[in-house]
Amino acid sequence: MENLDWKNLGFGYRKSDYNVRCYYRDGKWGELEISSSETINIHMSATALHYGQEAFEGLKAFMGKDGKIRVFRMDENAKRMQDSSDGILMAKLPVEKFQEAVRIAVKMNTHFVPPYESGASLYIRPLLIGTGPQIGVKPANEYLFMVFVMPVGPYFPEGFKPTDLIIMREYDRAAPQGTGKYKVGGNYAASMVEGKKAKEGGFSAVLYLDSKEKKYLDECGPANFFGIKNKTYITPLSDSILPSITNKSLIVLAEEMGLKVERRKVPYEELAEFEEVGACGTAAVISPIKGVYDSDKDKWFKYGDEPGVWSEKLYNKLRAIQYGDEPDKYGWVEVID
Ligand SMILES: *Cc1c(COP(=O)(O)O)cnc(C)c1O
Repeated sequence: MENLDWKNLGFGYRKSDYNVRCYYRDGKWGELEISSSETINIHMSATALHYGQEAFEGLKAFMGKDGKIRVFRMDENAKRMQDSSDGILMAKLPVEKFQEAVRIAVKMNTHFVPPYESGASLYIRPLLIGTGPQIGVKPANEYLFMVFVMPVGPYFPEGFKPTDLIIMREYDRAAPQGTGKYKVGGNYAASMVEGKKAKEGGFSAVLYLDSKEKKYLDECGPANFFGIKNKTYITPLSDSILPSITNKSLIVLAEEMGLKVERRKVPYEELAEFEEVGACGTAAVISPIKGVYDSDKDKWFKYGDEPGVWSEKLYNKLRAIQYGDEPDKYGWVEVID
């Protein structure tokens, strides 16, 4: 095992030993290749650089108490990358190839998987880019798929702590019938200005309203939104949100815990009714929210300074499955050996 300060890694790029690559040329995917280089050599006219033909994924591997390394729901990430590829006309990588690349990337870097006690994990970043040259607006003829990994610290090194969100109606992340539902870099470029503003104001993220009417809750910059009231887990149904695998998993666990689940349009006014609010995604599983500030109306919605009971239960349950502390009855984890 590497000698790193596992608890204080934070979330930043860190070099590991190997990455995996696969090229799409002449209408077909090649073999998986292992590389120890951190750089790629691509054509200056590659479509990824000019026209945003780029999609990515994010998932994690966890070291269990039993010393086994588990990867969480990677078939879902593989399928979502295929959806993203359809969404921006890129070559689709077969699910099996995606999974094999992830397995190899983890196996080749097992000494970077943080120990169980640290609460840290190995972050896995799959990436698909158009590498073929075009100058007219057309999809590339060549693509490169890569997987690289790095250890990341526990999201809550000081414990599971709530943060605030901000609503700013002058910014949209994605259009109602645009690319919001795909995990593509373009959505992130489109959210950086307001994301920076939010951080500078002391908020953890922007809570977007639907772009068309500004009447319904959409999602947070990099995470889905949920609210809980009257023993019901409520999460927005919208064409412009990214289908979070964490959210999909929490829905299953919420039902198992006896909560009702509603996936529907969530009117802005409902912010006043929730007993608990959270943002969910691979990075933190759940980021509990203590307040939502509406900057246009100078109005606060408050949910208490401590995480809500259901949020905490859901968080603990999902983490326990990921680390192998609880049985994986849904077949969500794959042991890498
Ligand atoms: C990746 C992502 C999420 C979270 O998805 P998970 O699969 O749970 O990690 C939520 N919203 C956006 C915009 C994302 O890109």
